[in-house]
Amino acid sequence: MAMMAQMSRLLVPTLREAPADAELASHRLLVRAGFIRRVDQTSGFYSLLPLGQRVKARIEAVIRQELDGIGGQECQLPIVQPASLWERSGRWAVYGQEMWRLADRHEHRYCLGPTHEEVITALVGGEVRSWRQLPQLLYQIQNKYRDEQRPRFGLLRSREFVMKDGYSFHTDEADFDRCYAEVYRAYERIFRRIGLDCRPVQADSGAIGGSLSHEFMALADAGEAEVVLCNACGYAADVERAEAGLRQPPPVRAMQRVATPGARSVEEVSSALGVVPAAVAKSLFFRATYADGRQEVVAALLPGDRTLNEVQLRNACGALELVPASPGEVEVPLGSAGPVGLRGVRLVTDREVASGGGWVVGANEEGVHLVGVCPGRDFDPGAVAALATARTGDACPECGAALRARRGIEVGQVFGLGTKYSAALGATYLDAAGQEIPMVMGCYGIGVTRTLAAVVEQHHDGDGIRWPAAVAPYGCALVTVGVGEQGAQAVEAAQAVGRRLADAGVDTLWDDRDERPGVKFKDADLIGLPVRVTFGRALERGLVEVKARTASEPQLLPLDAAPAAVAAVLQA
Ligand code: ATP
Ligand code: MG
Repeated sequence: MAMMAQMSRLLVPTLREAPADAELASHRLLVRAGFIRRVDQTSGFYSLLPLGQRVKARIEAVIRQELDGIGGQECQLPIVQPASLWERSGRWAVYGQEMWRLADRHEHRYCLGPTHEEVITALVGGEVRSWRQLPQLLYQIQNKYRDEQRPRFGLLRSREFVMKDGYSFHTDEADFDRCYAEVYRAYERIFRRIGLDCRPVQADSGAIGGSLSHEFMALADAGEAEVVLCNACGYAADVERAEAGLRQPPPVRAMQRVATPGARSVEEVSSALGVVPAAVAKSLFFRATYADGRQEVVAALLPGDRTLNEVQLRNACGALELVPASPGEVEVPLGSAGPVGLRGVRLVTDREVASGGGWVVGANEEGVHLVGVCPGRDFDPGAVAALATARTGDACPECGAALRARRGIEVGQVFGLGTKYSAALGATYLDAAGQEIPMVMGCYGIGVTRTLAAVVEQHHDGDGIRWPAAVAPYGCALVTVGVGEQGAQAVEAAQAVGRRLADAGVDTLWDDRDERPGVKFKDADLIGLPVRVTFGRALERGLVEVKARTASEPQLLPLDAAPAAVAAVLQA
C-alpha cells in the first residue's frame, strides 16, 4: 500500500553543512540529507534514519526478487559464531585483525561474523545427505562486522555493514558453473534495476581459488578499487588480477659490471647509465609470513617503471602477509640489490623480465650494477608471475588493444570456493553409487549499504542526491507553499494529488512544514526524490509545477494532469 508521509512528523534532520570527516559526495550528502548518522564519535558505525532505511529496504527488495527468481532461498544465520568452527576451517588463525573476537562468561571464544562460509557449510553439511538434495542456493541479508584498518567514506567502508551473502552447494563443478552463471546474470539485473553503472570484472581468487571469480564494480572516481577495461574486446579485470601485456625486453648482450656511485633509485641508475627505467629490473624485498607461521625474505624482480602488484606476489609465493623488509633483514645493500648470486632469499620474477633480454640490475655491492643480465643465463628466475600492475596504455592481454584504467566501488563479488570449506567441515553427500563426496561450493556477496552509497556517488549534483526511481525513499515530493487562504488551497490540492498517487502505487513525501519556500526547495533537492510537485501561487489558475529532479526547468501543468506527469517521470 502506497502512502503519503508528512515531513513535519518524520525524523529527517537535514543539515546545511557537511560533517568534517566526510570526504566523498555520498558520505556528505547522506549525512546532510538526513539519511545516516555516525554513532557518537566512533568511526565506522552508522545509524540509518528513516529515509536511509527505506532506501535500504528497496535495494533489498530488488535483491530478494532476483535471487528468489533463480531459486535462492532466504535464511538467517547467527551473527555470533563459535571459534571452534573457524578453527576447523583453519581461518581462526589466519583471518587477522579485521575479525571481532569475543568471549562469553565461560570464556568460550566467538567472533562477530565477518562472513558466513563456516556456519553455512556446517549447517548444510549436517542436513544434506544425498545427491538428490543438491543443489542448494541459500542467502541471507544481515549485518557483518569487520574491524577495518581504515573505516572511512561513510557507508562505503564501515565496520558494521549490511551484506547479502549467498552460498551454493553442488554435486560437481559443472553444476556450480551453471549456478555461477545464473547468479552472475541476476547480479547484472539487480545493479541495472537499482540504477548503478556497474561492470563485472575478473577478480583475483586468491590462494584458495584457481576457481572463477568476478567483482561487480560501480564505476566512480571516488572508488577505492582500480579496474582496467578494454574497449575493443570487452576484457575487464580488477588491477589485482589483470596482467599487463608484455613489452619487448631490452636487447641481449654480454653481462658486465659497471660502477654507479651514489645511484640507488631506478631513476638515478637509469640516468647514470643512460638507459630508460624500463630497462632496469628492480628488486623489492619483503618479509613473507605463511599460514604455518614460518617467515622468509622474498624478492620481487620487475621492470623499473612498474608498480608491484602485491596480490600477485602473494599468490606466487603463497604467503599470508607481505611486509616490506627492513635493511637489517636483507644481507645485500637495498640500493644495488639484484638477482645474480642472491642467496637465502626466495626470488619471484615478473613475466616480462623472465621473457629474456639484457637487464640492468644491482650487483649486490654498494655502488655497483650489472648490465646485460639475462634471465636463465645469468640467474635462476625462480617463480615467474605477472608482478607488474596493469595501467592505462598497456596492451590488453586478450586482444592487444590499449587498456584503460578506471576507479570503481566493489559492490558485489561472486566466487568459486571449490571444496575448501566442505572438505574441512565435512559437508559431504552420497552419490548415486553410495560414495561420500565433498560438495562443490560457491559464494556470492553484495554490500547492501555500500551499494546504497555507491548509488549516491553516481547520482548526485551540486544541490543534492538524485535517487533513481527504483530505490528512492519516496517516489515524489509534494511541496506546499503559501499562507492563509492560498496555503489552505495548496494543502487541499496536495492531499488530493497525494491520494491519487497513492492509489497509483506511488509513495509521496509531503513537505507540510512551516518553513519558507526556499528552505523547502533546498531540502527537496538535497533529499533528491525523483520528482517534485509544487503547490503554490499558480493554483489560482489551477496549475501546479511538476519538476523531475534531473530536469533543469519545471513543467507548469493543470492540477489534474499532475499524477500522470509524476508517473511518467518515475517510469522514464
Ligand atoms: P574490500 O576489498 O572492499 O575490502 P572485500 O573483498 O573485503 O571488499 P567481500 O569479503 O567480498 O569484500 O564482501 C562482500 C561485499 O561486502 C563486498 O563486495 C562489498 O560490497 C561489501 N563490503 C566489504 N567490506 C565492506 C565494508 N567494510 N563496508 C561496507 N561494505 C563492505
Ligand atoms: Mg575487505
